[in-house]
Amino acid sequence: MKIVIVGGVAGGMSTAARLRRLDEAAEIVVLERSGHVSFANCGLPYHLSGTIADRDDLLLQTPEGLRARFDLDVRVRHEVTAIDREARTVTIVDLATGRESVETWDHLVLSPGAAPFVPDVPGKERGHTLRNIEDLDGLVAALDGTPGGPVRSAVVVGAGFIGLEAAENLRERGLDVTVVELADQVMAPLDAEMALRVADELTAHGVALELGTSLSAVGEHAVTLADGRQVDADLVLFAVGVRPDTTLARGTGLAIGPRGGIAVDEQQRTSDPRIFALGDVAEKTDAVDGGAALVPLANLANRHGRRVADVIAGRPARSGVTQSTAIVKVFGLTAAMSGWSEKRARAAGVPVGVVHTHAASHAGYYPGAQAMALKVVYRESDGRLLGVQAIGHEGVDKRVDVIATAMRAGMAVEALADLELAYAPPFGSAKDPVNVVGYVAENRRSGLDDALQWHEVAAAVGGGASVLDVRTSEEHEAGHLPGALHVPLDDLRSRLAALPAGDLVVYCGVGQRAHVAARLLRQHGRRVRNLDGGWQTWSTSPAGRAVGVLV
Ligand code: FAD
Repeated sequence: MKIVIVGGVAGGMSTAARLRRLDEAAEIVVLERSGHVSFANCGLPYHLSGTIADRDDLLLQTPEGLRARFDLDVRVRHEVTAIDREARTVTIVDLATGRESVETWDHLVLSPGAAPFVPDVPGKERGHTLRNIEDLDGLVAALDGTPGGPVRSAVVVGAGFIGLEAAENLRERGLDVTVVELADQVMAPLDAEMALRVADELTAHGVALELGTSLSAVGEHAVTLADGRQVDADLVLFAVGVRPDTTLARGTGLAIGPRGGIAVDEQQRTSDPRIFALGDVAEKTDAVDGGAALVPLANLANRHGRRVADVIAGRPARSGVTQSTAIVKVFGLTAAMSGWSEKRARAAGVPVGVVHTHAASHAGYYPGAQAMALKVVYRESDGRLLGVQAIGHEGVDKRVDVIATAMRAGMAVEALADLELAYAPPFGSAKDPVNVVGYVAENRRSGLDDALQWHEVAAAVGGGASVLDVRTSEEHEAGHLPGALHVPLDDLRSRLAALPAGDLVVYCGVGQRAHVAARLLRQHGRRVRNLDGGWQTWSTSPAGRAVGVLV
């Protein structure tokens, strides 16, 4: 059996190595267009700052090493230019010599990845992209000094994961960095009130943000924005997303899915059952609604490589769904997410409940505890977990991973209350932030509490509700919701009769004291809703920013 694999990085090399472990007799050929295989794409941004000082640390394997360990025939700088499905061949060009050759196959595996999208603006050829080692070398050469003079400023176009990682590392290198983003927030998968925390971290570290605008031209030392303003840019990096590289698949008539990636079944087979596709080029199945999804993440490329090898070797295997679980470091912050955001669920017309909490990363009495903003989205009808977002410092990764696992298990949000998680003061809390989300949700879903979101306050007030702040005087004076009545929680019982008639929206710092207040008020016959996530969420939301609140 002869297997030809196109693309020798995440998906392709995972397939090749697993296949060899399963089948010592198979002939395995890996064809890679760039000069390197098995390099660490995910580490590329960190060489820009010198955090990963030695570029060669990003090169995880060589063709010689792969030949020795796995008996793989790995050819770098070999591009596959065509597939003949009838003859079961691929046409290959040796990029060093220009020589063309043909290779036969019994199974063909396509893992060519995705190509960075470059907007069609004048001067775009001056911009860089960051996808492989060659791109990195080009960027580093430009940063080290160009004929045009020293590089002092950079514009990163796109505020997604790669854009923000690049922005941070260019800033760490000492450049003046501006991020230009078409959307009105950074990190599009996050909800707005979560993304603002990331934006704050960027600006606090001197990265300028130009949101809600695009680039109209790239000049030699500046870019022009859509409104005509110029921004200094000795260097421009395009990080506006990637497109599945479907050139070969389209050329040979393989089915393309609704999102523009190669359509595959749950065994990663394309419309030609002898041809497999995986990684960034292939469409995935969304865990929430079962729809087609493009999710260019390394876990999926590696995991699906394992599955493709299993299927080729005759083992039962299925790829499963994707939750798009992702994480990024932005200076001192960690932002992580899995599943659907609130805005995505609402746009899809799925009625959802939402819990925001701001629990400490570990026991408050043990040094170094810091609050993490945690947001969980669940299906209103049955509580099924749909998504999680977390922004904070230590322990963000752990909480998102735990909730992502609960999502995969199909758990309901209130079941988080009963998870038994590792605890000692340096690591967590006897009421872990994950448990706290479960407690809050359990109270809401069992009817003990009722909540509203930051974006629902204006409508509630417009409908006649009064806003009640139950925090301390110091907290109230430092900033409060417009028009809020102030009654500290400990005075509430004695001032019940003085409260205005009608519906109440009650809030505190994060929602806990407001819950105590709401329980008291409800038992006195009042209709009351607790502002989810309290002041901590509202003040960092677009609603809070609109009235000029500073956190
Ligand atoms: P790739 O790993 O890109 O490999 C495809 C290879 O195919 C390429 O090397 C290409 O040269 C080759 N190829 C294409 N066409 C041909 C052809 N015709 N003939 C021969 N060879 C061909 N994911 C995360 O989950 N976490 C992260 O932190 C993260 N950070 C990232 C940072 C950067 C800068 C980048 C670029 C990506 C990052 N990713 C991250 C995404 C992750 O690297 C990709 O999802 C993953 O590499 C996809 O694997 P793949 O096999 O589909 O494609």
